[in-house]
Amino acid sequence: MKTSIVGFPRVGKLRELKFASEKYFKGEIDAKELESVAKELRKEHYEAQKNAGIDYITSNDFSYYDIFLDTAVLFNIIPKRYTDLGLSELDTYFAMARGYQGEKGDVKALAMMKWFNTNYHYIVAEVEDDTEVKLAGDKLFRLFGEAKEEGYNTKSVLTGPYTLLKLCRYTGNKTAADFKNAVAAAYKELIAKAEKEGITLLQFDEPALVYDMTSQDIELLKEVYEEVCKDTKNVKILIQTYFGDIRDAYETVVNLPVYAVGLDFVEGKQTDALVKKYGFPKDKVLFAGLINGKNIWRNNYKITLEKLAELEKAGINTVLSTSCSLLHVPFTLKNETKLAKEYLEHFAFAIEKLEELKELKALADSEDINNEETYINNQKLFNGTRVKENEEVKARYEAITDADYVRLPLRSERQALQKKVLNLPKFPTTTIGSFPQTKDVKANRAAYKKGNISKEEYIEFNKKKIAQCIAWQDEIGLDVLVHGEYERNDMVEYFGESLGGFLFTEKAWVQSYGTRCVKPPVIWGDVYREKPITVDWSVYAQSLTDKPVKGMLTGPVTILNWSFPREDISIEQSIAQIALAIRDEVLDLEKNGIKVIQIDEAALREKLPLRKSDWYTEYLDFAIPAFRLVHSGVKPDTQIHTHMCYSEFTDIIPAIDDMDADVITFEASRSDLQILESLKANNFETEVGPGVYDIHSPRVPSVEEIVDALKKMLVWIDEDKLWVNPDCGLKTRGEEETKASLINMVEAAKIIKR
Ligand code: GLN
Ligand code: ZN
Repeated sequence: MKTSIVGFPRVGKLRELKFASEKYFKGEIDAKELESVAKELRKEHYEAQKNAGIDYITSNDFSYYDIFLDTAVLFNIIPKRYTDLGLSELDTYFAMARGYQGEKGDVKALAMMKWFNTNYHYIVAEVEDDTEVKLAGDKLFRLFGEAKEEGYNTKSVLTGPYTLLKLCRYTGNKTAADFKNAVAAAYKELIAKAEKEGITLLQFDEPALVYDMTSQDIELLKEVYEEVCKDTKNVKILIQTYFGDIRDAYETVVNLPVYAVGLDFVEGKQTDALVKKYGFPKDKVLFAGLINGKNIWRNNYKITLEKLAELEKAGINTVLSTSCSLLHVPFTLKNETKLAKEYLEHFAFAIEKLEELKELKALADSEDINNEETYINNQKLFNGTRVKENEEVKARYEAITDADYVRLPLRSERQALQKKVLNLPKFPTTTIGSFPQTKDVKANRAAYKKGNISKEEYIEFNKKKIAQCIAWQDEIGLDVLVHGEYERNDMVEYFGESLGGFLFTEKAWVQSYGTRCVKPPVIWGDVYREKPITVDWSVYAQSLTDKPVKGMLTGPVTILNWSFPREDISIEQSIAQIALAIRDEVLDLEKNGIKVIQIDEAALREKLPLRKSDWYTEYLDFAIPAFRLVHSGVKPDTQIHTHMCYSEFTDIIPAIDDMDADVITFEASRSDLQILESLKANNFETEVGPGVYDIHSPRVPSVEEIVDALKKMLVWIDEDKLWVNPDCGLKTRGEEETKASLINMVEAAKIIKR
């Protein structure tokens, strides 16, 4: 039995790459120093795989920002506005990823989108009509050579041609079909060069095959691969799929002229059935994704070994692998010093998953697994319940009625009433919640956590920050204020800490975009609210101003989607438990005089099934009602806001309207304005604040630019319904750029009013 992984986390066990990149952006280290940190990390990651006896060690899964962007750059897919800056190769790359504002020009970053059903975000490469797709980069070869020097004959990974064609954005008149020949030719060039460099295995990542596919898609896939693989000699191709099954393309894919196919047996509900129904060619290798690359619970060896035996019995040449890249799980449990063994023994992060592969490899070759210690120990974990249950929570869940999902009166009535009560101007200005988490804010939290300052000191400091934040918002003339979220590390972790049923890690970081990471909590049991969470902060902030200050909560769907979920109860039930807990908080805020409450659902779309046919039945039909359950108990004049990142909801607009919020703010500046058109087409009733500028980049938008954006919005959005706000929270930004941007934003709103 051989073993492989789809890819390894790249940011480093202690986020070394993040810190080095940030230093580079600030000019504190140069490109060489950055590269040497990167090289060290790669070395460490190869070594970890070697130590676990992984047969197919992976290279080129390293990236400074994003693998999809790397593949685009490899093939010269770089919009002219970035090459025109005349920067170094590395800085051109970073300009695409983060935008550039400096001596050489002022260019926004490329759009960023959710990577399938994960919380990772990729950079949407743009193909212009005159883009010349060809082999242009050499990172893949450099990293292969570097690994080779260290004694590793790696498989090199990149995005495959089908997924590249499907996920790029075409900015001119041409479409994917117009580029298929050029793309195929470029991959052939790549293979020819790989041949020369001594690469023997190329892994083409093709997650786009798990979407619904049309017959044209299948045709495109076939045509491109037949062309790409035509003259391969020594280079073998592995088509790697993940995040689901490839039910539309299975027969096509397994019959393509490639060496191996990787299938996801964890998320791919039909993978097993497809293999059984259509078989798997004897002359190909199946990379069987049986180790969950997305969740952190230990693998059940019994089930995995049975599956492997079954595949072997069917005569399928199988390599044991992960269901997707380990990018989506944290690095290692070894840095978790605070959690007791009774918890930790149930988890496997990336390093521990390598260990599982090692043990399974040995067990697969063992004569008598029942006598193997690794097997016995593993099976002990699966006897009895793994999580903490709570009878009260269960009873409350059972008692929910249909009426609990409905807020009265109708939204149209509420909106009129709220306008009066809140006395808001036209085009009200607001922000999404957080203000810059400057060094002093983080230091205060760290000092408190370490026990170096008292709780009172910690609170005092945050109150001072809140007071400054409120005063400043008042001064520049924002209409609906926020307290700034200084007390929060992370919008999910913060709530999880005050909810029963959650577990927290110290270093379990997972990449979210670029080298930025999140640290998802683990849902360990039935969830309930232990005590009020945000009330004191909000009440204090509101006491400082006559303008409304938004209470700021994270919604149940997002809390679940940004946590590692349980595997023993349904997602539906988990979300409903969390909804009831947050409902308690909403009602407490209202009771304490908070008139506007924002319930963020930044990650609503995260777990939307990748196949449209499953959207409602397997997700929206319970996720949307769960959101309503959170706010259905408030008074008519309490204004409920929600916020979503990435406006990728053009196709689920009725469902978003059905959340029955009074106002929604969302990201619109980095994606096109198509969403606005659809809002109108769908008679969207919720008031809307499409972000007028991009907060993922340090760039300061000009007043004219924002006025322009607002004018475009007003073509589609009723002037009584338009809000003016940035596209997400400001916590990752610096203070100076934030202030400059918001001043411009308020000014732009004034101009529009006039
Ligand atoms: N209220 C949160 C903030 O402003 C929202 C963050 C998000 O949408 N990711 O930080
Ligand atoms: Zn957001």
